[in-house]
Amino acid sequence: MQNGKFTPELIAPCGMNCGICIAFFGYTMNGKKRKHTCVTCRLRERPCAFIKKQCDKLTDRKIDYCFECMDFPCKNLEKLDRRYRTKYGMSMIENLRYIQTRGIEQFLNNEQERWKCETCSGVICVHNKTCYTCNQTVKK
Ligand code: SF4
Ligand code: SF4
Ligand SMILES: [Zn+2]
Repeated sequence: MQNGKFTPELIAPCGMNCGICIAFFGYTMNGKKRKHTCVTCRLRERPCAFIKKQCDKLTDRKIDYCFECMDFPCKNLEKLDRRYRTKYGMSMIENLRYIQTRGIEQFLNNEQERWKCETCSGVICVHNKTCYTCNQTVKK
């Protein structure tokens, strides 16, 4: 993220925007400060804390985005997507299809608007719908 702007590196191969993730802001799901802030999927060495099922193509960095994979959308991704749609109101598969057809730049612009805090223009976290800049919690 540069000057509060989302950059392509923030978008994980599975379609998750790491820039709206609670671990990226440095917190755990129950609101405690993490020992280590997650540096995003593309930069971290270990697998993502929120994607339990592992995929060799992702861990070996064989693909840039899941839509390049023959099995897209595989069962694991569908399961993760279902969980996120139900619990957090966002879809990795929808994100990926958008990037595939309209490109990453347009996607980033949309994300910027979608997750913008109305109060301070900071970023709203997808997991708890809170802005860590002004601590406002919103309905999304
Ligand atoms: S925990 Fe996963 S989704 Fe969150 S920032 Fe890290 S790699 Fe991205
Ligand atoms: S198998 Fe699934 S998680 Fe792995 S790269 Fe393909 S679509 Fe993505
Ligand atoms: Zn705010």
